[in-house]
Amino acid sequence: MNRNSSLTRRAGFPFGGSLLCALFFGLALTGAGCGGGEDSSGQLVVIGLDGATWELLQPWIDAGDLPVLGGLQDSCAWGELQSSVPYLSPPAWTTAVTGVNPGKHAVFDFQRRIPGEKIIVNETAKSRRAQPIWNVLSAVGRRSLLLNIPMTDPPDQLEGICIAGFPHQDHTGFTYPPELEEQLGEYELDTMEMRMEEGDEDSLLAVFERGRGMRKRIALDWLENEPFDLFWVVFTGIDRIQHTFWKFLDPESPHYDPEVGQRYRSAIHDFWVEQDRALGQLLAAVSSEATVLVLSDHGFGPLRYDLRVQNLLRQPDSGVSEREANSVYSMDPGDACRLYIARRGRDVGGGWPPEQAREVVRKIAATLRSVRDPRTGQLVCDAVLEKDQVYSGPYAEKGPDLTVVPAFGYFLVEGSREPGDPGPVIVPHPKSLSGWHRMNGIYAIRGAEISPGRKDRDSGAEITLVDLMPTLLYLLGEPIPEGLDGRLLRSWIDPAYLEAHPPQSTGPLEEDYREMTPDELRNLRNLPYIGG
Ligand SMILES: [Zn+2]
Repeated sequence: MNRNSSLTRRAGFPFGGSLLCALFFGLALTGAGCGGGEDSSGQLVVIGLDGATWELLQPWIDAGDLPVLGGLQDSCAWGELQSSVPYLSPPAWTTAVTGVNPGKHAVFDFQRRIPGEKIIVNETAKSRRAQPIWNVLSAVGRRSLLLNIPMTDPPDQLEGICIAGFPHQDHTGFTYPPELEEQLGEYELDTMEMRMEEGDEDSLLAVFERGRGMRKRIALDWLENEPFDLFWVVFTGIDRIQHTFWKFLDPESPHYDPEVGQRYRSAIHDFWVEQDRALGQLLAAVSSEATVLVLSDHGFGPLRYDLRVQNLLRQPDSGVSEREANSVYSMDPGDACRLYIARRGRDVGGGWPPEQAREVVRKIAATLRSVRDPRTGQLVCDAVLEKDQVYSGPYAEKGPDLTVVPAFGYFLVEGSREPGDPGPVIVPHPKSLSGWHRMNGIYAIRGAEISPGRKDRDSGAEITLVDLMPTLLYLLGEPIPEGLDGRLLRSWIDPAYLEAHPPQSTGPLEEDYREMTPDELRNLRNLPYIGG
């Protein structure tokens, strides 16, 4: 791309763009124009709304409460965007920016077990083993602005700037260039609050609001003052408020209280109204020539009841022996949607030889697939996926042996390993967490090369996060590397544009690898569990 840097500066955020623009003026000569209002053809703006779902939003859009999102449905290609398996923010955003499944990018979860050690450590951006889109762009001198994308801490040394998103291993080292951190001053790192105790409602709402306001101001400043080819911001407050406040709007929640909940009934709605307004402000700052994609990394829904895995496996008629049940574990007892079966050579204290381990996995999977809620007769698991059904690539072995997609309103927890009567298998989920992720997220994309209208599928298949990287590279006029799992979403593109711009391909990308510093290694082991 050939765009000239502009020296025009507008008054920006206090730690504003003019300083960064000056800092990167040299680099900017190779790439984009300075400021959103310059020659901006070929620019791509991505706005992430972590945890958005049309199921919640459509009635509010229809009522006219979210005019910006409603307007996008009129002008964009839009529809459902399926998440990654598993549908947690770290693998989901990593899948979106790399175009490969977790078996290739190696981020399955917030945490990972160190083989042969009885220790679980947190994942960081350095766990990623596939190149993200901004590295591909950096290699050809194109500039990216990255704000709060989950799983980007510590940041890459990219052509551009980055304020990394959660999880954070430390309270420092989260920007690129590093000196940006000092310029940010009072910057508050993204909260990881997924749970809420009674009485904390107002203080949490204030945290969510503050985070959104701060990131909106930075995003506006960058859009106005920084040159870029790719701009990518993620707002995560939506995910957090939906995890914690969902019980107030869900009459079927075991914790729904018509009296006490009255005060917070509209909290999620009101947060969305503000988010919609913020989205409108950002869109107003984007050049009309830029291509704009609004998306979520996963959907959302109620979390009402838990399936207690160990209590299930210890039922007399479960078909699973006590030894088999004992060998099942999860990284977090409070989230057993991803299960591991202890295996010799991988897990401390032995476990099953590989052949037998496979048998145990199959037995546990069969038990989970058939379990029903005794109150309703409904199946509790929508899907119970064995490793080789969903993961492929050099890191597939690192993934969980079983990944469960629970049915609407259900969740899996480890449960009790106590001997004797195993007690109930399905119990209400604790009050502190009342909403959880679902597969179906959202997208809306507009631009001169986009063909508007609702599209939930492309060439007969669901549109998923893994398809984004190749499609975004195409929209940026770059060739698509071989070896990606995603495909170009042709249904998004105007047929005449596609014919005039046939997709180009290029060789496979090198594996991404950044060595950890001794400090980073130490921090990994010191962090408390994050969850969510
Ligand atoms: Zn979440």
